[in-house]
Amino acid sequence: MTASRFAGLSLDGTLHTDPAETAYAAADFGGIVSHTPAAVLRAGSAEDISAVLRVAAAHGIPVVARGRGHTSYGQAQVRDGVVLDLGGLDTVHRITEDHVVVDAGITWDALLAKALEHGLTPRVLTDYLGTSVGGTLSAGGIGGTSHRYGVQTDNVLSLDVVTGDGVRRTCSPTESPDLFHAVLAGFGRCGVIVRATLPLVPAPDRVRRLKVYYPTAAELLARQRELLADGRFDFLQGEILPSEEGWLYLLDAAAYYTAAEEPDDRALAEGIGYDAGRDTIEDLGYREFATRLDDTVTYLESTGDWRAPHPWIDLFLPDRATDAFVEGIMDGLKLADLGASGLILVYPVPAAVLNTRLFRIPGGDTIFLVAALRTAGSPGIASEMVESNGRWHGTALDLGGTRYPIGALPFTDADWRNHLGETYQPLFDTKARYDPENLFPA
Ligand SMILES: Cc1cc2nc3c(=O)[nH]c(=O)nc-3n(C[C@H](O)[C@H](O)[C@H](O)COP(=O)(O)OP(=O)(O)OC[C@H]3O[C@@H](n4cnc5c(N)ncnc54)[C@H](O)[C@@H]3O)c2cc1C
Repeated sequence: MTASRFAGLSLDGTLHTDPAETAYAAADFGGIVSHTPAAVLRAGSAEDISAVLRVAAAHGIPVVARGRGHTSYGQAQVRDGVVLDLGGLDTVHRITEDHVVVDAGITWDALLAKALEHGLTPRVLTDYLGTSVGGTLSAGGIGGTSHRYGVQTDNVLSLDVVTGDGVRRTCSPTESPDLFHAVLAGFGRCGVIVRATLPLVPAPDRVRRLKVYYPTAAELLARQRELLADGRFDFLQGEILPSEEGWLYLLDAAAYYTAAEEPDDRALAEGIGYDAGRDTIEDLGYREFATRLDDTVTYLESTGDWRAPHPWIDLFLPDRATDAFVEGIMDGLKLADLGASGLILVYPVPAAVLNTRLFRIPGGDTIFLVAALRTAGSPGIASEMVESNGRWHGTALDLGGTRYPIGALPFTDADWRNHLGETYQPLFDTKARYDPENLFPA
C-alpha cells in the first residue's frame, strides 16, 4: 500500500520494493536491529528526494536518509517507511584551492582521492573512510586531527538540504542558520543533506607515525594530556588492545610533513617513554596513512567478522572523570567482553575546538572519546554487549559524560531530551518548520 503511493513518479534513480532491496535497507553495520522499510529509493538526484518527500508528506509516510549504513543500531532504518539511499549521489562538483563541493552520498575515501589529485585534503578524516559525507555530517565525525580542528561538522561551509516539505534549501552559518545548526550532527531529523561545501587544506606528503605502549591506562592518559598541551603531533589517538600478555595501552600519534621539512624523530619521541625495543616509528605516505584500516577491513571481511554484529558504544567523558571511568571499565574486563577483533579507542580533544551545537559533549576544557568497538559472535552475545553498553552509558552520565549516538544502545525520547539538553527545544521548533509532517525520525 505504502509503496503504491509512489507509482508513476518520474525518477532519475529507482524505487524498489523487492525483498532483496528492503532487506539491504533493513541492515546496518551493527547487525543488531532490523526494521524493514516498505520501499527504498536509490536516489539518482536531489529532485528524486524532493519528489518522494512530497508524496510521503501527502500520505504521512515516514522516511529516513541512508548514507552507507555504518551506524550500529538502526539509525538509518525505518519500519514500513521509505529509505532514501544516497549511495548513488557521489559527484564531486567543484574543487578550488580551499574548498570542495560534493554530493552527500560520496564516501570520504572517494572525496579524499579526488582532493589529493589537487594536493589537498579535508582537515578531519574519520578512521574508516567508507562512510558517507552526509552520514558523518549527520553524526559528528571525529578523528585523529580533531584535537586541532574539531569534528567534521565543525568544518562545513554550507549545505544543500532537502527538507521534509520537499524543498531544496541552501544553509550555512549565515544563510538559514537555524537549519544549518539543526542538520549538523542532527541525525537526519529535519531533512536530507544532498550537497556539502567543505574546506580543504594542503595535504601533507608523508606521515611519521609513532606507536608507544604503556603499562597502564593512567600512563596513556597522562601522556595524551601532555601531548595535547605541547601540540607536537598533528594526529593524536590511543587504543586499549588485547594481547596474550594482557591489555596494551597504545599511544598512536603522528606528525604530518612535506618533503622539505622532514621531522626529527628524536624530538617527536622525546619525553614520552619511547622504547626502541618495544615501540615503533613508521614513515607512511599520507593516503596510505589515511586508509590505514583498509587491510584490517579486508581481513575482517575474509574472516566474516566484518558482517558479525557490532554492538559499539561511543562515549565522551570529561577529563576529570576519564581515569576513573577507564579504570572502572577495565576492572575485570575480559577479551570476550569486546569479542574477536575488539578494542577500545581513547583519546582527548579540547572542548574549545568543538562548536557544533548538536554534538553534545561534557563540560570542562578537555573531553575524552572512549569507544568500545565490540564484535559479537552471536545475537545472544550481542544483546549482552548492548546491556553492557547501557551500564557504561549510565556510569558515564553519572560522571558528567555524554554519548556519541552512532552506537548500539536504545535511546528513548526521554534519553534524547536529556542528551540534547538546552538544544532540544530549538531543534524541535526547527523540525516543526522544516519537517511539518514529521516524516523524519523524531
Ligand atoms: C569501521 C567504522 C569506523 C568508524 N570510524 C569512525 C570514526 O573514526 N569517527 C567517527 O566519528 N565515526 C566513525 N564511525 C561511525 C560513522 O562515522 C557514523 O556511524 C556515520 O554516521 C556513518 O556514516 P554512514 O554514511 O554510514 O551513515 P548512515 O549509517 O547511513 O546514517 C547515519 C545517520 O545519518 C543519517 N544520514 C545519513 N546520510 C544523511 C544525509 N545525507 N542527510 C541527512 N541525514 C543523513 C541517517 O539517517 C542516520 O541517522 C565508524 C563506523 C565504522 C563502521
